[in-house]
Amino acid sequence: MKSPNRSVDGATCSQPAGTVVPVIDRNRCEGKAACVAVCPTRVFVIGVLPQDSRGGLSLRGRLKGFAHGWKQALIAAPDACEACGRCVTACPEKAITLARRDAGSP
Ligand code: SF4
Repeated sequence: MKSPNRSVDGATCSQPAGTVVPVIDRNRCEGKAACVAVCPTRVFVIGVLPQDSRGGLSLRGRLKGFAHGWKQALIAAPDACEACGRCVTACPEKAITLARRDAGSP
C-alpha cells in the first residue's frame, strides 16, 4: 500500500500534489492569513484582490472587501496543494473549501 505524502514540515497529506485545489469564497475572505500560516506547501499569499475578480461579489462581499483594502488570500501555487485540509480548518471566515482539480482547470 502506498504511504501518504509528507510535506516539508512532515505533515501527512491525503492526496498527491495537484489533485485538489483550494477554492476561496471571495465574499468571505478577509485576508487574515491563517491559511498562509498553516499551509505546509506554501499555496497561499496575501495580496490585493484584482479588480476583475470583484465583479460577482455580493453587496456584503464588496463592503467587506472595501473595508479590508481588498486584502485577501490568493493562490500562488495551485499545483502544490496536498489536500491536508489545514487551511479549511484554520480559516476564521470559513472561506476555504477543497475541490477536485479537473484537467484544464487552474
Ligand atoms: S489543503 Fe490547504 S493547507 Fe493543505 S496543502 Fe492544500 S492549500 Fe495547503
